[in-house]
Amino acid sequence: MELKLDDLTPAEMEEMRQSIFLSTLEQIKGWARSNSLWPMTFGLACCAIEMMGVGSSHYDLDRFGSFFRTSPRQSDVMIVSGTVTKKMAPIISRLYDQMPEPKWVIAMGSCATAGGPYVNSYSVVKGVDQIVPVDVYIPGCPPNPAALIYGINKLKEKIRYEAKTGKRVI
Ligand code: SF4
Repeated sequence: MELKLDDLTPAEMEEMRQSIFLSTLEQIKGWARSNSLWPMTFGLACCAIEMMGVGSSHYDLDRFGSFFRTSPRQSDVMIVSGTVTKKMAPIISRLYDQMPEPKWVIAMGSCATAGGPYVNSYSVVKGVDQIVPVDVYIPGCPPNPAALIYGINKLKEKIRYEAKTGKRVI
């Protein structure tokens, strides 16, 4: 017998609405990716100490499915934590290129965001977004580990939103 939606009672419609989960493959991929972000260990200066703190037992980043990796080939998030010098810029760019797609970048702290206290220095890049595309900026000098967790959660929201809408959020 063929079942038609028009034949269902309101109670049956409500029951069906609650028991059927509709999604797309892209949304499922976005959900899975956002819950298993693997950041690359990439400390450049003092902000890196706060980034390391996020992996400690107190903040325990692992509980969010994020594990630091030591290879760009195994990472999908680059957390740039510290002062980006002009000498370091080509290395950041090369490591970013070695990360597989899809990949994201978090600029952690004032230095990585816009040069920080060294903004007038001849040797400092005024923000890592001049080298690689940045998805999330975390202000502070330095931001504490809780701020980094907040930034990672914002990145998760962004990944899921992009997967749902098919739009790139800049
Ligand atoms: S933002 Fe502040 S704490 Fe972070 S690397 Fe720059 S000077 Fe150090």
